[in-house]
Order: sequence, then C-alpha cells, then structure tokens
Amino acid sequence: MGSLKEQFWDPVAGFGVTFRTMFRKVVTEQYPFEKLPTAPRFHGRHQLNRWPDGLEKCIGCELCAWACPADAIYVEGDSNTEDERFSPGERYGRVYQINYLRCILCGLCIEACPTRALTMTNEYELADTSRESLIYEKSDLLAPLLPGMELPPHPMLLGADEGDYYRGNLHRIDPDAATEAEAEA
Ligand code: SF4
Ligand code: SF4
Repeated sequence: MGSLKEQFWDPVAGFGVTFRTMFRKVVTEQYPFEKLPTAPRFHGRHQLNRWPDGLEKCIGCELCAWACPADAIYVEGDSNTEDERFSPGERYGRVYQINYLRCILCGLCIEACPTRALTMTNEYELADTSRESLIYEKSDLLAPLLPGMELPPHPMLLGADEGDYYRGNLHRIDPDAATEAEAEA
C-alpha cells in the first residue's frame, strides 16, 4: 500500500498531463491525404542528369557503385562512337540500375560521382508491390528532357568546342556540321 500522497496525488498529476496534452497543437500529419514538402536536402530517389543539349552526364565510371555500402548500384560503361554519342566524353553508362530494395539513401554515391551526373531528388514514395519494380533502370532514373534538349544519341550540339561546352559558353551549332567535325577528329 503506497503512502497517502501516492494514492491521491499521483493519479491527479497523471490526468493533468492528459488534459494539458489535449489542448496542445496537433502534430499528426495526414499522409497520404496531405503531402508536406520535405527538407530541401532530403535524400530521395536518384536522378541521372543531362547536359543542356540532352546528352547524359554519366560516363559509366562505376565510382558510384564502388562507393555504395549496400551494393545497390550496377553500372556497365561503353564507348561513344561518331554515329552514336550518348555523353560528351569517350564513355557513357550503357546499363545503369539502382536496387531500391537495398538502397539506404545514404548519399555516398552522389558524393563519389565526378561529373554530378548522379544526384538525389526529394521524391520519397518508393513503395511498390513487386521486387522487380524496385530495381530502377537507367530509363527510370534519367532526368526528363527540358526545352532545348534532344534525346541522345546525337553529337554535342552546343558551344564551338569542348571547352565552350564544359564552361557553359553555349550557343547552338549545326548537328550535321558537328557530326562531320567528329568524324574528321
Ligand atoms: S544512396 Fe547509399 S545505399 Fe543508396 S545507392 Fe547511393 S550509396 Fe548506395
Ligand atoms: S553516375 Fe557518376 S559515378 Fe556513377 S557511373 Fe555515372 S559518372 Fe560514374
């Protein structure tokens, strides 16, 4: 049997906590009916970025895959040719997969990427009903084509030379002339 204080005062104090909480601001989020924006640097789904003419920034170097602690990334690189150019340099990522059953969204892969090809979006709705659908292919991860971009393969369409292209001194050049220049190089 407790003391007189424990028998009478403690229950009153307990209800006091209940009543105090009843009048506090509710913090429950009504997800999925109301979707609140995430923090700006929230680590969500990845994105493979493009240059302003639509070519891919990924050079298939696999550094992201080596940096990944969960072994969630699979990359196969390949060489660009004069007829089929997917990225401005020598190499591009022919196969690119991220397995979201393994990914812990830590962001080490985007730190490792030398070309800023790989970044993370704020998208967090990654649940699905099959294991296969959670292995994202390159086509799922590539950034959408914005106005002024063209779907690769195509030659570098902007800037007088590679220096202009990478420095961002961009003006549009004739695609046929670019193809001829590449063939001669
Ligand atoms: S976010 Fe982390 S776990 Fe996910 S693919 Fe990148 S390195 Fe791997
Ligand atoms: S995303 Fe970046 S690190 Fe990964 S293969 Fe492409 S260029 Fe290399």
